[in-house]
Amino acid sequence: MPRIQQLDAHVADLIAAGEVVERPASVVKELVENAIDAGASAVVVELRRGGMGLIRVSDNGCGIASEELPAAFLRHATSKLRAAEDLGRIGTLGFRGEALAAISAVSRVDIRTRRREDTVGASLHLEGGVPGEVEAAGAPEGTTILVRDLFYNTPARLKFMKKDSAETAAVSGLMQHLALSHPDISFKFLKDGADTLHTPGDGRLNSAVYAALGRDFARGLLAVQGRGGDVEVSGFITAPLQGRGSRGMQSFFVNGRFIKSQLLTAALEEGYRNQLMKGKFPGCVLAVTLPVNQVDVNVHPAKTQVKFAQEKAVFDAVYHTVLDALDQRGGPLFPAARPAEAAVNPRGDFFQAMDSKTFREQGGEASKPARGDRVPFRPVWDTERPSASVRLSDSAPERPLESLGPLGSVPERSPEPLRRSKSGPERPAREQRSPFPPMRQDAPPSVVRWKPAIPQAPERPAIPQGELPGQAALQPPAPWRIAGEVLRTYIICESEDGCVYLIDKHAAHERINFERLKSSTEPPMRQALLTPAAVELGREEAALLLENLPLLEEFGFSCEDFGGGAILVREVPADVDAGDASAILEEIAANLREGRSPAERRENLLHTMACKAAIKGGWTSSPEELRVLVDKVQSGEVKYCPHGRPVAVKLTKNELEKMFKRA
Ligand code: ADP
Ligand code: MG
Repeated sequence: MPRIQQLDAHVADLIAAGEVVERPASVVKELVENAIDAGASAVVVELRRGGMGLIRVSDNGCGIASEELPAAFLRHATSKLRAAEDLGRIGTLGFRGEALAAISAVSRVDIRTRRREDTVGASLHLEGGVPGEVEAAGAPEGTTILVRDLFYNTPARLKFMKKDSAETAAVSGLMQHLALSHPDISFKFLKDGADTLHTPGDGRLNSAVYAALGRDFARGLLAVQGRGGDVEVSGFITAPLQGRGSRGMQSFFVNGRFIKSQLLTAALEEGYRNQLMKGKFPGCVLAVTLPVNQVDVNVHPAKTQVKFAQEKAVFDAVYHTVLDALDQRGGPLFPAARPAEAAVNPRGDFFQAMDSKTFREQGGEASKPARGDRVPFRPVWDTERPSASVRLSDSAPERPLESLGPLGSVPERSPEPLRRSKSGPERPAREQRSPFPPMRQDAPPSVVRWKPAIPQAPERPAIPQGELPGQAALQPPAPWRIAGEVLRTYIICESEDGCVYLIDKHAAHERINFERLKSSTEPPMRQALLTPAAVELGREEAALLLENLPLLEEFGFSCEDFGGGAILVREVPADVDAGDASAILEEIAANLREGRSPAERRENLLHTMACKAAIKGGWTSSPEELRVLVDKVQSGEVKYCPHGRPVAVKLTKNELEKMFKRA
């Protein structure tokens, strides 16, 4: 029988420390929260080597009496809580009395502190939680804590530390939130000696937003202020047209504490319902203030979650505050001139999703573009058109359907360097074109059921003899007849054996893109932006992206640091909308943050890129585009979208007959 023993205090402390101190950012969080609780008006955070070298937090708060200094490092030692009933009304950020104990258990700590009323301060050194002697020391008013050799005595944890830059990124994001949570405190963050964040501490939230989140983000914000019962809501939200690509720019503070809350996110987003483009998220800096007995902050060791006593009241207060602010702007918030029915594929050409390999193979080196340029491209079949061409509609390009080849291999490019504006007038051909192939009353269905033949163009490399024994047996099956498209999203097809298929065109295209990107060994085609775009992201997001520049390059983005949480984008992949660059980069940053392993991060990135390069439900698609999608689904190449949703549903004749009570 195993003997049950109580762990000795040292091991127990290390275990407890693991919960509070997960990484350098957790140390910074706890130390800065202590500084805020100490009433500081200025806090300086210094980080070296992502915090693994050194973390120093200085404040000008109340300081600690020298005789109490060792006690501050004991577990469950706090000045903020006395009795159980106090737990129901916590007004400070800290209350567990665990942070200093936990931090000192896993590092080497030096503290120097002086209260205003003392002439001499005190210092103390601790190693692995073991304190030395308290010594008298000269010190400015306030407290400075220096943490070195984090996790030196817990090798298991040390092993799991990410790269220094990832840790720095996490601390940068945290500092942003801390600075936003207390505009009345001046925060300064020095990273390896460089000043990267400095808020004035003038008590104005917009000053803090400007300093922490950047000018561009601050400019697009609407001020909000509202109250519902005991719940007060104030801060800033993004205008509907400034929707973001992820939730990374949503910051919520409850009684001065940065928290993550699905309830608050839901309330915010509900306020924007029908006002934001699909796939976009609002950004915000929202402070929710309510009586301390209405919120339980003791639900998470890192104190990043809270529980509201009256969830509905909080939801309603946030929702109505947001809604009112958006309503007050007057007029349509989102240009209603582009309802779903009128949405035109804002991409130039669906088929331009071509990889550079195909481009080189078909365009030849002679026509190789300057990096990123859109090049007028003459496919080989322009000169020699197979006779079996079929025109689907009047304005459709006179181009043989057979020659469309694999998706993305037939660019009909315009020489312009950038994507056309979303509804630019220079696209009459597509806008006037009916989304459906014209009804062919004059011709029997068999005429429409063309047989895709192997392209005749002689320039194409001939398939070596002998590789295709029994050519006839390989004749592709008759293609599905496209009956039409409904809701500008679903393609309706009929197969020869009497089944009806509904295909989700976005999902199908996304899958095709995903496979193409996944299997491509060539770098993607890029487009150079006429003017490089400065994309404002959060500091954490920007740092994550900068740390992954080679990966971004691989995906077709050419970016560089622009300072202050912004990234300068020079090139984007050719098959995404240049105007989407900022949203895509935000989403990529979210992918990078969430991915647990390099493989998972890469896969997530592929998803994002595949989705962004795909046609969307609601866009007008040409018959040729629909045909390519249908053929891919028919051939079984495409079954599920990368997110696992089906791309097609099938209705058999029998099922239809049952529905109509014929069978
Ligand atoms: P908690 O913050 O939950 O009380 P900590 O372990 O973080 O627990 O801190 C223990 C105590 O040390 C605090 O309650 C506070 O009295 C004191 N203390 C810690 N940091 C500071 C600081 N920067 N300035 C003044 N007092 C501090
Ligand atoms: Mg604390």
